[in-house]
Amino acid sequence: MNKHEIGSFVRRQYYCSICDIFHEIKLDKEVLKKHSRFPFSHIFLHGQLKNILTTLYLDKNLEVRGVDVHILTDEDLFSKDQAAIIINTLMMEIENLRLENEKLVKEIYQLKEKYEKWKAF
Ligand SMILES: [Zn+2]
Repeated sequence: MNKHEIGSFVRRQYYCSICDIFHEIKLDKEVLKKHSRFPFSHIFLHGQLKNILTTLYLDKNLEVRGVDVHILTDEDLFSKDQAAIIINTLMMEIENLRLENEKLVKEIYQLKEKYEKWKAF
């Protein structure tokens, strides 16, 4: 085990030509069980708008052998697998935004309450 490994996760870096930086990614070693041929493609979305379709080609040690980044546009056509990944990512993003919204609504409510108390004082 080295510093790039935490439990069943490994940390890897890949260069993204769209952001022009190295991104860090945590990979679960469990994914290896799903593949018998290497390298395999690991697809996900990244970027603030989650609009950069990223394909990493990973070998049996989860080392990044290749990177493919692509900004999504309305004209893109996807495979079933890619569409499933995009939908899944966006669903998770919606859920995160929903939780964040819930938290903010609660905060607003608490601030209002505080203000009302302060006003009455
Ligand atoms: Zn990027």
